[in-house]
Parts: sequence; C-alpha cells; structure tokens
Amino acid sequence: MKNHIIFFSGGKASFATADWVKMKYPNDNILLYFTDTCWEHEDLYRFINEASDKLQLPMLTHSTGLNPLQLMFEKKLVYNSMIGDCSKLLKMKVARDFLKKGESPAIEKWRNKQYLKTEDFVTGSTLYFGIGFDEMHRQDAIVRNWAPFRVEMPLIENNIWIEKILLKHGIRQPKMYDYGFSHNNCSGRCVKAGQGHYRLLKDRMPEVFQKIMEQEHHLWNCVSAYRYIKAAELPPDVEEVELQSLDDAYRDYFYDRAERPRLYIHPSAGATPEHMMVKRYSFMKRSGEPYTIRDLHYEVEKDMQIDMFEIGGCGCFIDFN
Ligand code: SF4
Repeated sequence: MKNHIIFFSGGKASFATADWVKMKYPNDNILLYFTDTCWEHEDLYRFINEASDKLQLPMLTHSTGLNPLQLMFEKKLVYNSMIGDCSKLLKMKVARDFLKKGESPAIEKWRNKQYLKTEDFVTGSTLYFGIGFDEMHRQDAIVRNWAPFRVEMPLIENNIWIEKILLKHGIRQPKMYDYGFSHNNCSGRCVKAGQGHYRLLKDRMPEVFQKIMEQEHHLWNCVSAYRYIKAAELPPDVEEVELQSLDDAYRDYFYDRAERPRLYIHPSAGATPEHMMVKRYSFMKRSGEPYTIRDLHYEVEKDMQIDMFEIGGCGCFIDFN
C-alpha cells in the first residue's frame, strides 16, 4: 500500500486533485494535509470539512497558532507586496518541518482519522499539488523543493473539470469564489495583494475591508511606536509610555483595548516630516512607495482611477525557495 499526501489549501483545485487521487488509488493510504494560517474565511473550514467527509479521506491540520498579522508583530516587520514570508513560515515551513524532519507545530488536529489506513503516512509518500496550466512554470521549482519526495500535479497532466467534481460530490464551492476572488486564501486579506484585489474586497466584503484597513493603520502605529521606544527617540511632549515592546503594542491594540484603555504613542505626535516619510508602512506599494488601504479607500470613494489589473497575492505552497 502506497502513501499519498494532498496539499489541501481550501481551494477548488486541491479538492479536484484529491478526488483524482482517490479515484486512481482507492486502496492506498491517502491524506489531506491542510496548514492553517488562522486567518481563513469561515466558509473555507466548511468546505474542507465537507470535502474530507464526502471523499472519506482523513484530514490533518497543522498550524503554528499565529496568523499573518501576529507573525508580523513577532518579526517586527510589516509585510507587503515586496517583502514578507507569511506563506513560507505559516504554511510551507510547517509542512517541510513535519514531512522532512518529523517535527509537528504547536497545533495539530485530525478529522476523519478513522479513514487513515496506516499510521506511517509519510514514508515514501507522493505529494500532490493542485496547480494547473496557468502555474505550470512553477512545476520544476516545486519538484526540486520537495525532493526526495515524489511530486505530482494531476491538473497539469490530466483533463480535469473542477466544477464537475464539485457537482459529483454535491459540494458548494467556497464563498470567496462566489465573490469573484481567484483563490480562497486568508479571507481576501492577503497582505501581498494589489489594488484590484483590495478593490474587490471593498465591494464584496466591506466589513473585512474595513477591519483590515484599521489593522494596517494600527500596525503602522504600533511598529512606529516600537521603533521610537527602541531608538529612544520619544518626542519630548510624550510623558507616559505604556508600550514596552511591539508585542505589548500588539496585545493592547488587538486584545485588551476595550478593557484597558491606554495611552498610545502616535507616530505623528512628534515626528519630523523626514521621520514620517521613513516610518510609513503599508501592505501595498505603488511605484515602490507605500500605498495604504486607506489611500485606496479614499481614492475609490472619490472615483479616482486605480489599477484594477494589479491583483498580486499569495503563492502559498508554490513560491518556496
Ligand atoms: S494569503 Fe497572503 S497573507 Fe495569507 S499567508 Fe499567503 S501571503 Fe500571507
């Protein structure tokens, strides 16, 4: 009996891949492997659970317990379309450490473990990725990165109609596709996404857009405040400093704010124009310059032109180096 591991992302393509493997090797030991960024759309979990149930395949979920935003605080860095390793650290490294070194992350969950046919599901396993023709150029790098495991991408080598597979199992596609997104990652909040993507988010998921706009803004404040503290550059008129570290800043802003109102050091409080220029952080960049979600928000509200073709976004499990 052979082992097969499907990198299960919550997208339709990886589901179709899982169906193909199950049809081809019905008697083998097949695992759905999902690495959770803890920042996914709730309907993604509905989709992967339903897929595991209907395909009658065991699903293993691994996670560091951090979401991309929390990771940025840990790393003291604001990720954006040019830098950032959230997909590498939250997804690919988790998978690599487990499959190549046998190290499990902080969080491990099973669903339908009764369908696992042998406990050793890793040795000699073939790994499957749900990428199609449009991402074929990444094939060689993926194969290299996962050696010595054998790697297969059935959607490239076979004519598989993904919608038909969903119909076959009576599974509704994840909501993110209904909204017009091309993938089902991080509930549309990808910090590497571009203007066209965030414009769609604003239109289709306004609450999520509002929240990520606020988070980006606070992240900018927190990181700037942290740099002030670290560099002992506090403006003279700021008397009380509650935040001792970026982690404190994070926890206050995102967890304790309602219960324990505090004084926050706003970067504009005593910043020189030069300092402000250096300390401006954003997820998006435009012509290499910071371009915040708030910038985009106001430009859309004023009917100004934005680049709808700049989509960007995550290559989770694909852009490994
Ligand atoms: S989808 Fe974007 S935010 Fe989420 S892990 Fe991938 S790169 Fe990071």
